[in-house]
Amino acid sequence: MNYIVLDLEWNMGSRREELKVMPFEIIEIGAVKLDENLAETERFSRLIRPQVYKRMHWANKKVVNIENSDLQDAEGFEMVYSEFLAFCGDDPYIFCTWGDTDLTELQRNIYYFDCLPLSEGPLEFLDIQKLNGYNNGAPKERLSLEKAVEEYGIPENKGFHRAVNDAVYTVDIMKRIDRKYEIFTSFNTYHTPADTESEVKRDYGTYTKHITHCFPDKMSLLHNKRIKALTCPACGRKIKKGLPLFTLNGKNYLTMGECTVHGTVKSKIRIKKDELQGKPYAIKTTRLINDAEKTSVEEKYQKSISSKSE
Ligand SMILES: [Zn+2]
Repeated sequence: MNYIVLDLEWNMGSRREELKVMPFEIIEIGAVKLDENLAETERFSRLIRPQVYKRMHWANKKVVNIENSDLQDAEGFEMVYSEFLAFCGDDPYIFCTWGDTDLTELQRNIYYFDCLPLSEGPLEFLDIQKLNGYNNGAPKERLSLEKAVEEYGIPENKGFHRAVNDAVYTVDIMKRIDRKYEIFTSFNTYHTPADTESEVKRDYGTYTKHITHCFPDKMSLLHNKRIKALTCPACGRKIKKGLPLFTLNGKNYLTMGECTVHGTVKSKIRIKKDELQGKPYAIKTTRLINDAEKTSVEEKYQKSISSKSE
């Protein structure tokens, strides 16, 4: 399997110009292709002539090192994207990005310009920013690319915020991350699963993840038996007596119960809205938790009951 390490630069419009379907228009695609040993085999770097937000936004000018005049002779998105797909090639590959925003913006641009989608459903990728946190023993840490480069003492001999340079820096960091973390893939859900059969179900060893298709409304989602069910991630046993599904903010729902063999199991159901269909779907993660986390869930449950009765 190849790795396609991707980075984008984009421009935005003024508040008056902004299109909801594409708030950011891509003006540069940079990518590095790596083989299974993380050795570089090919590079891709193209500017893109903007067709919607044609002048560089003032706030963007401060960050991105690209001038209007650089873009005038570039090809439009449709052409550059088809070249990019050719670069990605026919052999299996997985995208690697710093954080998860690039793949969302790329898919928004693909949709707006009516190009061939990257994926029918959720797009599996490696979030190097997340894996770097795992590697640092701080799973929730999300460093900026500049900060991570600095922490590793990687020579900063290329300007940041040019797509291919940032992709190369991302590669430099990938090579310093223990490869055992590569199993912890992420999913970009710009496209959600079309139906029950194509839902994503993953067992990551210490936790499981389930990405559902869209439901007509939140209530039908929350009442769905498959979504409500609490299952031990270690043995797959159904846990019958658990806390009822509860929430403190209307977005994240929690439930908890005991597996007689493996201990306390917690499921978190995050309700999200599908951008294209405007309908809710859920990302459910289930893990075994320790006593301190168990107490914390119990406290949240008590709080949810007392806030209801107020
Ligand atoms: Zn179990």
